[in-house]
Amino acid sequence: MKRTETRQAKIGRITIGGQNKVLIQSMCKHKTSHIEEVVKEINECAKLGADMMRVSILDEEDAQAIKEIKKQIKIPLIADIHFNGDFAIQAIKNGVDKIRLNPGNISDEAKIKEIVELAKKKHVVIRVGANSGSVSQEFADADIPLAHKLLLSAKKQVQILEKYDFHDIVISLKASNIRETINAYELASELFPYPLHIGITEAGPYDLSVIRSTAGLAPLLLEGIGDTIRISITGDAQSEVVAAKRLLHDCGLYENYPTFISCPTCGRTQVDVKPLGAKVFKYLEDNSIKLTVAVMGCIVNGPGEGKSADIGIAGGKGQYVIFKKGEVIKKVSEDEAYDALIKEIDSLR
Ligand code: SF4
Repeated sequence: MKRTETRQAKIGRITIGGQNKVLIQSMCKHKTSHIEEVVKEINECAKLGADMMRVSILDEEDAQAIKEIKKQIKIPLIADIHFNGDFAIQAIKNGVDKIRLNPGNISDEAKIKEIVELAKKKHVVIRVGANSGSVSQEFADADIPLAHKLLLSAKKQVQILEKYDFHDIVISLKASNIRETINAYELASELFPYPLHIGITEAGPYDLSVIRSTAGLAPLLLEGIGDTIRISITGDAQSEVVAAKRLLHDCGLYENYPTFISCPTCGRTQVDVKPLGAKVFKYLEDNSIKLTVAVMGCIVNGPGEGKSADIGIAGGKGQYVIFKKGEVIKKVSEDEAYDALIKEIDSLR
């Protein structure tokens, strides 16, 4: 199903599925029992635009920490649990809004039933799914594409929950291979009515992950697939949130964000455009200014190339011109350029 048609579920006070809003999420990099660090990380991510955050539950201390963390944050919290059903029960009792758990990894049927019944009672969503590194053994050796292995593994998990009449489900099928990920999610969107959590797993450090995640997720997002997104980066959670926001904005799925245009510069450039561009973009991003702003290297092509911009600036010899919708409105010296442009930007807000 496309994201406007997927089944809706409540995660805390937010709704996933059945709408064109794609929720942004990231995962805390600190140990969950280090409450102060985790709370700080979650609140910083929330300020940057995260709709929800996930924490790992490795032990009893982590499961107990949820209670205190929940008191100090405003966005929904997801507990990531592997194999241990008791941690899932504790996490739900301690107020978590969603759990990420594959019931197929828990051998005790009674425990699965207990988790599902408690999740129903407390209105907790369960994300199930498959990663390329953890495909169910029964499908791992089959002579079928990875996308099908991921799909079958996820289906197996979904069926366990459906058996207990549980339907507040989110599904993920992550691979680090872009084509396999796209294929898997396309198949899943045809098979399941549930919202999809999309992401490229183990995507690498910032630069590599942004390229990989964009290459893998943009086609899905543009097709209308994906209800929540994570850009996984070997780096900080805050960067994951900002990268997700930028990707969604460029796919036309996140409005409250600037559209920034800057030229690559060339032999015609006679001013130092790079630091000016970086400073202007930071101002726009920090203030969530919903304008299209261009910073161009030269007057010859700048205003023309930046015609689609609400406002822009183009370099000359030791000076800049400021333009609106491609029409030059004033000339300023290189020293005055930043302040003058910001003044014009603010006048349009
Ligand atoms: S806008 Fe001017 S400086 Fe920038 S790339 Fe185009 S021609 Fe070169």
